[in-house]
Amino acid sequence: MKMLKTLRVRFALWLTLLILAFLAIFSFGVHFSLSRSLYTGVDETLVLSAEQIIPSLQEEDGSILMPPLDANAPDLIEFDPITQRGITIVILSQNGYILQAAGTHSLFSLSDSLPPTQPEFQTIPEAAEIDRIRVYSLPIVENDQILGWVQTMQSLGTTEESLDKLRTLLVTGSAILSLLAGFAGYFLATRALAPIDKITNTAHRISIEDLSARLNLPDTGDEVSRLANTFDEMLERIESGFTRERQFTADASHELRTPLTAMQTILQFTREGERSLPEYRLALDDLAEEADRLQALVEDLLHLARGEGGLELYKEEIDLSLLLDDVADSLRALAEKKGFALKTNLPPSLIIFGDTDQLIRLIVNLLDNAIKYTQEGSVNISAHNEEDHSIIEVADTGIGIQTEHLPHIFERFYRVEASRSSQGVGLGLSIAEQIVLAHGGKLRVTSVSGKGTKFTVFLPNPPE
Ligand code: ADP
Repeated sequence: MKMLKTLRVRFALWLTLLILAFLAIFSFGVHFSLSRSLYTGVDETLVLSAEQIIPSLQEEDGSILMPPLDANAPDLIEFDPITQRGITIVILSQNGYILQAAGTHSLFSLSDSLPPTQPEFQTIPEAAEIDRIRVYSLPIVENDQILGWVQTMQSLGTTEESLDKLRTLLVTGSAILSLLAGFAGYFLATRALAPIDKITNTAHRISIEDLSARLNLPDTGDEVSRLANTFDEMLERIESGFTRERQFTADASHELRTPLTAMQTILQFTREGERSLPEYRLALDDLAEEADRLQALVEDLLHLARGEGGLELYKEEIDLSLLLDDVADSLRALAEKKGFALKTNLPPSLIIFGDTDQLIRLIVNLLDNAIKYTQEGSVNISAHNEEDHSIIEVADTGIGIQTEHLPHIFERFYRVEASRSSQGVGLGLSIAEQIVLAHGGKLRVTSVSGKGTKFTVFLPNPPE
């Protein structure tokens, strides 16, 4: 029963049955048409032979002369050409007596009753030692009067023997061919399904601990090979997803630990002895700063986690020029403190459709980075409308990003080595990208190391 469940056995069985059905139909057809033509052939020969006899009984004036009922009388008719074809001929008198007969003697007197008054075929069933016999009775008629009959008959033995042989041949041939087809089907299915077994075994081996197993089947381009490739690609994606998640958890724990450790150190140091009021104040300020860092980090992590399945936006009509101007104003002091200017180049009004809080967060992240990684020159923020997009550009003249780092800066916790000492943890750009994507836009970066960086945000315009 378990065997029947395997695809290869079912395939082989179906193939056997199918071929058997086809061969059965084919054999039936062959047998039917051959037996029909053989039996019709016999009938036609009997009719022709019987009709051949009648003229030899006719006198010159057309009247019929029946042979006399006398055993010693010479035969009127020459039968040889007909009997040579295996046909037995009997000429019966009006009363059913045999007047003349030629051929196989055992067939001479077959029936007691008189033959029918119309030309007719009869089949005499098989009897001891005698095969079935086909008989054709043709009445000899003159002036509407039956003078007697010509009967031609032939044994159906040879015909039926040939048909018997044909039947045996067809039945055994069909059975053998179907079995062979079944075996061939089983063999082919086993070969074709071998990779499936491999897939099953690999799937068994895979676990969360080890996602590295791959099928690596040769690419033959067939269905199974496509399945195997898709399976490998899926494993690749799952594995890299898991690796990313693991990395993220490790990085997040590490980053959370830094401010916590700092807080513990401050507390430990402060509690070790009696401290003066200014010392307590300083400790509290430090604690507050670390708590702020912790809060900012937790907020960033929450933001990213919430945005995992697509950030939820509260969209409204916003004047982007106004929003950018406000954010620039609030951060200008930071730039000025470092000795350079934060410049804006904005149209009087630029209406877009978006989530105000998220867009503020996006611009703050970009501007904050620009100010953080710039020592001299300026930071510029500009916006304009282009076809169906509004474009925001945040450009700085800072340290720039080396080309090899550019593809990674939007990854979570990714920081360029040079900026390791800075305050960021490498989440700012991931969040920025998440916000832009949630708005259906794109975030692009171009940078020349040592010269400066430009981030470009493309936001789709509100529908008309
Ligand atoms: P971080 O919190 O470290 O700033 P981000 O995700 O905002 O993290 O940025 C990732 C990295 O990209 C930063 O560590 C920094 O090296 C680089 N980066 C981002 N913005 C700039 C910029 N304007 N100029 C130079 N480097 C930048």
